[in-house]
Amino acid sequence: MQDTEDKRSALSNALGRTDELFDSFMNVLRQDFSGEKAEKRDFSETAARIIPDAPKEEIPPDAELIGAPDDERLHMSFDALLEDSSKCTRCGLCETRHNVVFGTGCAERPVVMVIGEGPGENEDLQGLPFVGRAGQYLDRWLDAISLSRNKDVYITNTVKCRPPQNRDPYPDEKKACFDFLRRQIELIRPQTILCLGKPASTLMTGQADASMSSLRGRFFFYEGIPMICTYHPAAVLRDPDLRRPVWDDLKKLARYLGLPAGGV
Ligand code: URA
Repeated sequence: MQDTEDKRSALSNALGRTDELFDSFMNVLRQDFSGEKAEKRDFSETAARIIPDAPKEEIPPDAELIGAPDDERLHMSFDALLEDSSKCTRCGLCETRHNVVFGTGCAERPVVMVIGEGPGENEDLQGLPFVGRAGQYLDRWLDAISLSRNKDVYITNTVKCRPPQNRDPYPDEKKACFDFLRRQIELIRPQTILCLGKPASTLMTGQADASMSSLRGRFFFYEGIPMICTYHPAAVLRDPDLRRPVWDDLKKLARYLGLPAGGV
């Protein structure tokens, strides 16, 4: 008897939840069809209950890293920002760089914006991101989820100048460069963001002390844009055991975007 009661109660709870979800989606549809513009719509909680892989967390980037709101860079056009970055002397990296590596690819609403760590030697010499061995590997990852670097993707880094000996960028360097990245995202309006490696993942999720293993494979929102973090291609080239988690993360992104995924 108790067993039947428990089942009845579980069923009634489940039906209640279904009703709630249905109402919530009907509200969305009503808004879309009526042309009514909602201020800011966050369906992550609702979506997370229906689709386990859906974006869940809205986490602003580290407040420490956000420049003054009246920073002139935050109002610049794309060309002005590019020009400004080419002369930047906001941190010590300007002293050793050969070229500022601003970014490359589709700069108008790309399917994915890739954010790496910082330019390496080849990137510094050519002025383009991810052109060395890690970059070629990244191209294979993108290809595996039906994306192409020039057509669907914009690629940039947390810092636009090469850190000497390819060390991780220091917090003050990431901070000095963040206004460029922030304005790039605003202007480029990517559909999703893919953070590669710890410097990009901790910066963009605002979790400065988090490990890569705790951040990877999770969806976040950056300013309403779904964002996922995974290991850096250079790290995977050093440690093939990371291939499996990276592939899982890429498949998650592909599934979210409705893209076919082959294999890396
Ligand atoms: N690694 C990065 O993080 N970015 C590049 O542009 C190249 C290698």
